[in-house]
Amino acid sequence: MSFMSVPPLRAPQALVDPFGRRVTYLRLSVTDRCDLRCVYCMKEDMTFLPRKEVLTLDELDRLASAFIRQGVTKLRITGGEPLVRRDVMDLFRSLSRHLRSGALAELTLTTNGSQLARHADELAACGVRRINVSLDSLDRARYAAITRGGRLDAVLDGVAAARAAGIVVKVNTVALRGGNEDEVEGLVRWCHERGMDITLIEVMPLGETGEDRTDQFLSLADVRRRLAARFTLTDLPLRTGGPARYVHVEETGGRIGFITPLTHNFCESCNRVRVTCTGTLFMCLGQAGAVDLRAPLRASSDDAALSEAIAGAIAAKPRGHDFVIDRGRPAALARHMSVTGG
Ligand code: SAM
Ligand code: SF4
Repeated sequence: MSFMSVPPLRAPQALVDPFGRRVTYLRLSVTDRCDLRCVYCMKEDMTFLPRKEVLTLDELDRLASAFIRQGVTKLRITGGEPLVRRDVMDLFRSLSRHLRSGALAELTLTTNGSQLARHADELAACGVRRINVSLDSLDRARYAAITRGGRLDAVLDGVAAARAAGIVVKVNTVALRGGNEDEVEGLVRWCHERGMDITLIEVMPLGETGEDRTDQFLSLADVRRRLAARFTLTDLPLRTGGPARYVHVEETGGRIGFITPLTHNFCESCNRVRVTCTGTLFMCLGQAGAVDLRAPLRASSDDAALSEAIAGAIAAKPRGHDFVIDRGRPAALARHMSVTGG
């Protein structure tokens, strides 16, 4: 009996960068569009990408699945606003197969919450267990001002619907000088009374917004000092491989995360990469270096070239970023956060 020689199947290359960091976390943007125009994120009159440049839902699925085969175990869907992408639930339904197979440990979402109420049950049914909801104010007028027209009540309904569906909600709040700095304590109390963690984020210099970021920037070191005058804060050893550092608040029993890209560098334990909705892989949020994955994706229905391109990109992941916000200095990077999804 003779056997035909079959070329050996090439095992997908695990994603380990030159600094020995294993990339296990992908943040995938599914649209650059958004129904809000947050003052630190976008210009009022944003020009969005032509649709043909944006990956189809099938392409997004193939791309995410290639990363999962190469060792990504956590996938965050983001945007722009992911829930404004038409039929985005088809993508969640399809990706949930990786949760069922055990290849993916977590499928999650970052959303502004405006469309969450009508999608919460289905997200839960797809296996989404935790989500991040961005919320910078609990005051209707102020929320509308920061988001340039957003409706606070829609977000609060969305948060309530997600929680009712059994999804754990973490709130993300960008700390804004003169914007919501007097409300941080109130937001912390509001979240903790509901058993939700809150993460505070410093404004990052990404993309022009038509506003001066020097005026928006509020150091979280100052915010923390003010919170420490009201609460007993204890540092927690909790590390998620991400930029957040957590404290426990004795009085509320809850947690506050601090993301301080400008005052502290958090790169040494970075386990993540980002892909835009056009299939551009950014190895670092704070660096311009990128690799196009759309060409290999569209060149063939076979994923070999795509997997090669992913592995090659990770081999070039930079050590870290060097953000600076200075008066008169343009944004450190021309691309907006809504491009890479934060
Ligand atoms: N639209 C969704 C949302 O707002 O949650 C997902 C995408 S949004 C780009 C992801 C996160 O990035 C949000 O929490 C938002 O507040 C944050 N963000 C946007 N621009 C930022 C900037 N320049 N500096 C810091 N955080 C920013
Ligand atoms: Fe939209 Fe999110 Fe950017 Fe606000 S932060 S404009 S909600 S993408």
